[in-house]
Amino acid sequence: MLDDLGFILPLTMMILGLALLSVGLVFSRPALFWGLGYLAAACGFAMPLQAFIPPLVAALLTEALFLSAFFFYGQALMTQFPGRSILTFRLSLSLIAYGAIAAVIVVLKDMELEFRLSDLACALSILVPILCVIRRPKTPVGLALVTCAGLVALETVTRLTLTFLLAGADPSTLTDSPYMMIMQGCAALFGHLMALAALAHAARDRIVRYREDAEQDALTGLLNRRGFERALAPHGERGHVPSGAVILCDIDHFKRINDTLGHAAGDAVIMAFARMMRASLPAKAAVARHGGEEFIAFLPGSSSAEARSLSQTLRLRIAKTEALMLGEDWVATASFGVSGSLPDDLSLTEVIGRADRALYRAKHQGRDQVVEEPMRSAA
Ligand code: GH3
Ligand code: MG
Ligand code: MG
Repeated sequence: MLDDLGFILPLTMMILGLALLSVGLVFSRPALFWGLGYLAAACGFAMPLQAFIPPLVAALLTEALFLSAFFFYGQALMTQFPGRSILTFRLSLSLIAYGAIAAVIVVLKDMELEFRLSDLACALSILVPILCVIRRPKTPVGLALVTCAGLVALETVTRLTLTFLLAGADPSTLTDSPYMMIMQGCAALFGHLMALAALAHAARDRIVRYREDAEQDALTGLLNRRGFERALAPHGERGHVPSGAVILCDIDHFKRINDTLGHAAGDAVIMAFARMMRASLPAKAAVARHGGEEFIAFLPGSSSAEARSLSQTLRLRIAKTEALMLGEDWVATASFGVSGSLPDDLSLTEVIGRADRALYRAKHQGRDQVVEEPMRSAA
């Protein structure tokens, strides 16, 4: 029966390998290593199905393929959850193990010892990386991937133990034994689960990356409007207006900066301004580029007065920021509109609307100042 269906495992492993490899070639380095691992394993499982390679060479090749497969699985884990590199150690381990296995095949011709050594080397090739990365996954799909890799390692160790239990059996009958069926069944199940988890992880990585790109301003690295709205969502649960204050800020006479110094210099001013803002505001603040040379910040839990005082600090810090000194006696300035949330606000748009009116007044009153709405203004 195994002879008739033996092609299924290498075939499905090959399909998974190709799927992972194609994902890897487009956008994921870990998937590339997973793909190489699955293709090597597929070739290893396919080896008994062919008759044209001499048995000795076939045995050497099979062991090389399985060892490579497990080495690549380990490399995929190390790339997926990066930390200290142990590549040299792992490469040396695999090469020494292969040397020993090859010696057993060619010199001792002991198939049982060959299988044990091979299982031990494969188990170590994946166990060492698992132990290295075991604390690094932070998401359910990451945990699932490491768990599946753990199952593959467990299956390999179990297989190693089985060879001890079956010690003394005629190795030439191994291919038709229950041992082989269990081995192939478990390898297939856990191997498929691990591949699916690897594909899911690659997909998740990409989605997270796209979302970050979609919510980030490319020039400044700050949030864009979409990202700002999403960052605020947890603060305004169940239809409540989040409690806090909004700072709107717009660089003064920016058109003049562009016209006099050029568009690239204008970009540099926007970037320096964004850096200064992000560094000066508390970590809990959501800071975004709201438009061309306009920025918005939401300070959760802060009062309007606190936001006004922070805006004054920002305004004064501009003059001390080297990248914002545009000439000997020309320093960039900015105007600020500030507003805090009020109990009868129906949405955050109302708070932003008041901050916008305050910013308009700051511009109208001569720029380079902070205006709070409602009430007070300070220059
Ligand atoms: P005000 O003091 O009233 O704010 O005047 P302003 O010149 O700053 O404002 P205005 O809205 O007239 O001009 C803003 C300029 O910002 C116009 C636009 O070309 C420029 N701008 C918008 N986005 C970018 C950008 O990404 N890079 C550069 N260099 N310029 C930009
Ligand atoms: Mg402006
Ligand atoms: Mg503007």
